[in-house]
Amino acid sequence: MTAADRRLLLVHAHPDDESIGNGATMARYAAEGAQVTLVTCTLGEGGEVIPPELAELAADRTDSLGEYRIGELTAAMRELGVADLRFLGGPGRYRDSGMMGVPDNDRPDCFWQADVAEAAGHLVEVIREVRPQVLVTYDEHGGYGHPDHIQAHRVAMRAHQLAADPDWRPELGPAWRITKVYWTRVPRSVLLAGLEQAAARFPLVAAEQDVPGVVPDELVDAALDGARYAGHKAAAMRAHATQITVDGGFFALSNDRWQPLLADEYYQLVHGPAGSARPERDLFAGVEVR
Ligand SMILES: [Zn+2]
Repeated sequence: MTAADRRLLLVHAHPDDESIGNGATMARYAAEGAQVTLVTCTLGEGGEVIPPELAELAADRTDSLGEYRIGELTAAMRELGVADLRFLGGPGRYRDSGMMGVPDNDRPDCFWQADVAEAAGHLVEVIREVRPQVLVTYDEHGGYGHPDHIQAHRVAMRAHQLAADPDWRPELGPAWRITKVYWTRVPRSVLLAGLEQAAARFPLVAAEQDVPGVVPDELVDAALDGARYAGHKAAAMRAHATQITVDGGFFALSNDRWQPLLADEYYQLVHGPAGSARPERDLFAGVEVR
């Protein structure tokens, strides 16, 4: 299989999740000539705003953060070399639901309230058009319990199933079976070592449960060396300036708790054939050309 035959689809909840979780992976496959498609499910309208001069964008002020974050995400994709960026159902179709338990969870237009089959239909349309061999998303807990991340997982896994069923909404295109599905992971030992380094440098560090997808090391099936793409990943994260502060090999979200900026990225294979090496060094290992 040549690089140009490779097609990678990533499904994320908010602008910034892709760069934090998979920035080096996206930059690598884009640089190698693969087609990389990002589907982001909300505009992240509910996020807190870090730079004081942009505070007016917030949902409780002018409520224009979503539109602003389209610009940040576009800039981040430029840093990663990724051209194919889409919003599930179109920009603004599904609104950010906020953290679990907040009143925004009940807004009828929020992603958490979306009908999963209907939302999956939008993604099936993308899958049948792009025909990716590999899908990357979150685990069933959304990595860390955010409603939009949980919903992104449900929609991605449902769409993976439905896209392959020729009898399900044939008007959305010919059925397509994605070969491999991965959930983004962080091996616990890697995170703990990084948090220890962060603690030596910053007054506050993130808690393990704040970091999406942390698992015992043995659950990690693929480990991608991101050394060559660390600069691209950091630049993409900096492009999300309303959400992320980057300092060297570390970053903080609006809670000002620091964590390692991991160049290497890790995955758990949940569907499809494993490559011959473990951990795999390539998400397309074992995929046949189609
Ligand atoms: Zn998110």
